[in-house]
Amino acid sequence: MCGIIGIASNKSVSSNIIQSLKKLEYRGYDSSGLIVLSKENTFDRARSVGKVINLEKNLNERKRKIRGKIGIAHTRWATHGEPSSINAHPHISKNNVSVVHNGIIENYIELKNKQLKQGYEFQSETDTEVIAHAIDFELQSKKSLLESVKEAVFALKGSYGLGIIS
Ligand code: GLU
Repeated sequence: MCGIIGIASNKSVSSNIIQSLKKLEYRGYDSSGLIVLSKENTFDRARSVGKVINLEKNLNERKRKIRGKIGIAHTRWATHGEPSSINAHPHISKNNVSVVHNGIIENYIELKNKQLKQGYEFQSETDTEVIAHAIDFELQSKKSLLESVKEAVFALKGSYGLGIIS
């Protein structure tokens, strides 16, 4: 069963996110990942297969550290798409919105076919990625993030706990 973390702070959140993910390890998972909103207002993401310690090593080994005051993170228990760093959450749509998801989107193939026609490119094999693209699609018509999420989830069938940043 997956775990979701979100932190908004007045200091860099990466190490608190790692500590929080470690507290969720008892739930069982196959990979983990985090994303923060950097000072330049861009996404900075890291994902690793296996234990959270692998994600922590991944962060420590980077020359350019992942720093930001807002972040979301996830421990994944794969349902759609093999356990891999590409399929690990967070997922991103058009560098505009990022999503972590607990659950299953039952109608993801139908949504994916529609989004392919809308011009979205898929980076993963997960059911989750359609959520990110659905929110991005709504954001394009200048709705707020909250309005866009509300609109996007109307189309989802299945179960979902979500963490979202834009
Ligand atoms: N269905 C999603 C996936 O396979 C989320 C799984 C989970 O709850 O960790 O990536």
